Amino acid sequence: MERLQKILAAAGVASRRKCEELILSGKVQVNGETVTTLGTKADPAVDVITVEGKTIGTEKKLYLMFNKPKGVITSASDPQGRKIVTDYLKGITERVYPVGRLDYDTEGLLLLTNDGEFAHLLTHPKHHVSKTYHATVKGVPHGSALDKLKQGVMLEDGITAPAEVEYQDIDPEGKFSTISITIHEGRNRQVRRMFEAISHPVTKLKRISFGDLYLGNLKRGMYRHLTKEEVESLY
Ligand code: URA
Repeated sequence: MERLQKILAAAGVASRRKCEELILSGKVQVNGETVTTLGTKADPAVDVITVEGKTIGTEKKLYLMFNKPKGVITSASDPQGRKIVTDYLKGITERVYPVGRLDYDTEGLLLLTNDGEFAHLLTHPKHHVSKTYHATVKGVPHGSALDKLKQGVMLEDGITAPAEVEYQDIDPEGKFSTISITIHEGRNRQVRRMFEAISHPVTKLKRISFGDLYLGNLKRGMYRHLTKEEVESLY
C-alpha cells in the first residue's frame, strides 16, 4: 500500500504537489469512491484509480529524446510565458515530463517520459548515470586546471565526484576553448559551477550524451522516440 499522491506521481499524472491538489479538489477516485484525504493509501496493483475519470496505469509509456534549444525552460509550465520543452512536442498528446533538467541556456539531449518510475530511477543520485557535455569556456584552461575537475573540485555543496575531461577545440588566439566533460552526478548547474571553480566560465553548454544514448544528428528543437533497446540500456 502506498500513499495515493505517490502512486499518481509515479504513474506520470503530474508532480507530487499537483497530485495532492488533484486529490484535494475531488478529482481522484479509488474503486469508484472519491478520495479527498491526502494520507489515503492504495495498492496500484489491485485498486482501480482514476483521475478525472481516466484510469491510471493504462496509458502507453512514452520515452522521447529531445534536442533542447537554448532559451527554453525544462518545465511543464512557465508563469512568465517563456518557451517550454513541451511546446516542441507536436503530435504527442500524452502528458510527458523531463527526466532531470537542463538550464534555460543549456542545449542538447533531454529525455522526456510519462513513466514516473523510469524518471525517478534515472534522476536518483544513487543511479550515477553518466552525462557528457561540450562546454565552451572563456580562455584555455591549463592541464593542471582540468586535472582538478578530473579529481573532484570543491563547490559550495561539497566536492564533486571524479569527471572525465578532454580538450575538444582550442581557439588559436586563446580566447575560448571547448572541453568535453563527463559527470556522474546531477547537481544544480553543476558543469557551470565546476568551470567557475577553475576560473573559466562557461559561455555555451550542450549535453551530447546521457548514459549510452547520444544526441547524434537529431536537429535542434526536434524529438524522436527511443527504441526499446535504448530504454533498456538505461536500466
Ligand atoms: N550542468 C549545468 O551547469 N547546466 C546544465 O544545464 C546541466 C549540467
